[in-house]
Amino acid sequence: MTMSDSTIDYQKLRLDGIYKQNDAGDLMLRIKIPAGVLSAEQALKISDISERFSNGNLHLTTRGSIELHWLRYPDLATVAAQLAAVGLTSRGACGGAVRGIACSTTFAPGFETAQALARRLHRHFAGNPHFEGLPKKFKISVDAGYQKARHLIQDVGLVHVGSQRYDVWIAGGLGRQPQAGFLFEKQVAEERLIPLIEAIVRSYRKHTPPPKRLKFLANQLGEARLRELIRDEQTEAPESFPFCLLEQALTPNPATAGIVEFPVFAGELPAADLRGLAAIAAEHSGGFLAITANQNLAFIPADSRARQTIEAALTTSGVESAALGAKAAFRICPGSHLCRMGLALTRDITRQVLNVLGPKGQQLDWAISGCPNSCAQVQLADAGILVTKAVKAANGERQPRFSLLRRQGEDLGEAVASDLSLDDLLQTVAGLG
Ligand code: SF4
Repeated sequence: MTMSDSTIDYQKLRLDGIYKQNDAGDLMLRIKIPAGVLSAEQALKISDISERFSNGNLHLTTRGSIELHWLRYPDLATVAAQLAAVGLTSRGACGGAVRGIACSTTFAPGFETAQALARRLHRHFAGNPHFEGLPKKFKISVDAGYQKARHLIQDVGLVHVGSQRYDVWIAGGLGRQPQAGFLFEKQVAEERLIPLIEAIVRSYRKHTPPPKRLKFLANQLGEARLRELIRDEQTEAPESFPFCLLEQALTPNPATAGIVEFPVFAGELPAADLRGLAAIAAEHSGGFLAITANQNLAFIPADSRARQTIEAALTTSGVESAALGAKAAFRICPGSHLCRMGLALTRDITRQVLNVLGPKGQQLDWAISGCPNSCAQVQLADAGILVTKAVKAANGERQPRFSLLRRQGEDLGEAVASDLSLDDLLQTVAGLG
């Protein structure tokens, strides 16, 4: 397949999970990982693809997907075929589609129930043309509880409240106009969820101008009118879908023996390391790894003996845990290291922040995003760093300006300091103690 840059329709590629990474024609491919749970075989395949077609690294996202960068257009069909060979797809991972279903990785009680539902939703929505060609992205998450409040920033956020029932939150989102979602309905039975989500997506598609998200419609019409529209759509669909008894969690219940977390600084992992971790997972944790919301990897052992074996295997495997990743919980978007929207080198800045962070600061949950899109979900962190703009300095260089956000209550975090230079930011962070 040979095509010049001018003949490639980058807009259409988005639905296949591909963004243009830079003007040189390098591409980013985002792979949906159902419920953020990856089999050892899938991990090995992604490692192979990364080494053959990318730069030998991969990026773990805050929503449990995996991104490969530096791909070239002629290789895309081969990459897609290799992913399909292990049951993976990137379809709908970018562009106006139902994106990858993010699953609770706080490992709260009920994680296995949430995981089974997230896999079922992935199976229903991924690549389903009825839910593509939307005005913009449509994000769904399933969480095992209210910890970390990820339901607030989704188009549909589902929170398991026991007995296979879910509170349904809708119309949240971040970006330049962050908005917390609102509670649409409490304690919805699992078999009613797919028809309800379908009705929400149909309402969104019919009534929202591109490139706006559902939160725009909620603001424009008001909560009450949006509820009416969704109810009208529900009358056209069956009221419930039967349970799928074989749709079970792929991992043991983390309540049994906890998890063994492998810190990955900035979610940036060499393919060779993933291969080593996959070998440990294949032998000692039932063949699966989970991607956490903080861009780390987790093993979920079946019992405490398996846990000890995994810990021992990690210390002798030669796979290096990123020491910086272990210093503080820190979600880090790729910023201008890899993203054409990036206004700052987020990883380098994070290293500087970690160098000045005192003991109190290290206890906090951190996030940094390289532009106002806020892919690292800075508004959900205890302390969030957002690059708001880049200004031209006297020497002609563009220098980033930062906001520092703090999340104190139940709502989204808000800026407590704005328009900070890097020096100001480091001083403010050091001052946290
Ligand atoms: S927050 Fe901005 S810079 Fe960071 S990955 Fe998202 S779009 Fe790119």
